[in-house]
Amino acid sequence: MSCCNASTEKPTAHDLTKRIDADQKRLVNCKQVDVNQLMPLKYHWAWDYYTKGCANHWMPNEVAMQGDIELWKSNRLTAEERQVILRNLGFFSTAESLVGNNIVLAIFKHVTNPEARQYLLRQAFEEAIHTHTFQYIVESLSLDQREVFNMYHEVNSINEKDAFEMKLTSAIMEEGFNTDTPDGLRTFLKNLVGFYVIMEGIFFYSGFVMLLSFKRQNKMVGIGQQFEYIMRDESIHLNFGIDLINGIREENPGIWNEEFEAEIRAMILQAVELEVAYAQDCMPKGILGLNAGLFREYVQYIADRRFDRLNMTSQFGSQNPFPWMSEAMDLSKEQNFFEGRVTEYQTAASLEW
Ligand code: MN
Ligand code: FE
Repeated sequence: MSCCNASTEKPTAHDLTKRIDADQKRLVNCKQVDVNQLMPLKYHWAWDYYTKGCANHWMPNEVAMQGDIELWKSNRLTAEERQVILRNLGFFSTAESLVGNNIVLAIFKHVTNPEARQYLLRQAFEEAIHTHTFQYIVESLSLDQREVFNMYHEVNSINEKDAFEMKLTSAIMEEGFNTDTPDGLRTFLKNLVGFYVIMEGIFFYSGFVMLLSFKRQNKMVGIGQQFEYIMRDESIHLNFGIDLINGIREENPGIWNEEFEAEIRAMILQAVELEVAYAQDCMPKGILGLNAGLFREYVQYIADRRFDRLNMTSQFGSQNPFPWMSEAMDLSKEQNFFEGRVTEYQTAASLEW
């Protein structure tokens, strides 16, 4: 494709004034600087995710923590309940920053389309907000900062999830890496699957269930609300990522062959086991009506949804043991979800200069 040949020659006046057609744009491997124009838009889905993300803007310190602080300092939480909360804070506090790093250090450079890049910039800031959330919770509850932020070194199942992801970032950061060859492009797709489908689409979900279960029982409601906001953001991240993956597949026929699909399936199946082990580690005895068996069912159910979106045959046929989760995630509930918020970002009058 002509747009993909980087030219070192000086552009002529004609080149500089020529119209850029949307159909010259490509998601990856489009090296012509001219096509770095946002408009005309080609990938409307990427722009739509960007505006959706902006419309859902929130900050963790808008959420009142007084009730959580009182409950945490009381003797009304069991040791098991505290462990569930701490382990999840430990996992998410580092996982969010791994996702942010991966966008900036591994993905951004290789996604050569401005609409998609616009979304990546928005997402990177959301990941910073999510990391901020854990700083805010740790500070509000006066938790041991080192214990929470160092937990991935101490708890094996957290370490394994993080290590699984970090390997995928390193592969892209290796010197000389590019997406010009089929192998390079496949390595890049594996990174996208690893972060969007697995990290944000599977590794986050047991934690979401656990923390939202507290909220459903009116415990640690501030943290629960923050997790609801995060989960909403994450469901957009996941959908953007899958559209990006499927778009790259479409534009690069032959890349996603049978052998590669088998590799992707194996990655996702390994991730399911890592996630089940993590859930077990968070609640060895089961609490709040939750136990490890339900989590296996749930994680398998979630993985099947991801296979569907990747146009792969599903694997497990598991039922959703937590049907209330779909409601908590339903994007059409936008209005209700933000009813309780303190700040209305979309009111221009609130800007002070
Ligand atoms: Mn996040
Ligand atoms: Fe995310």
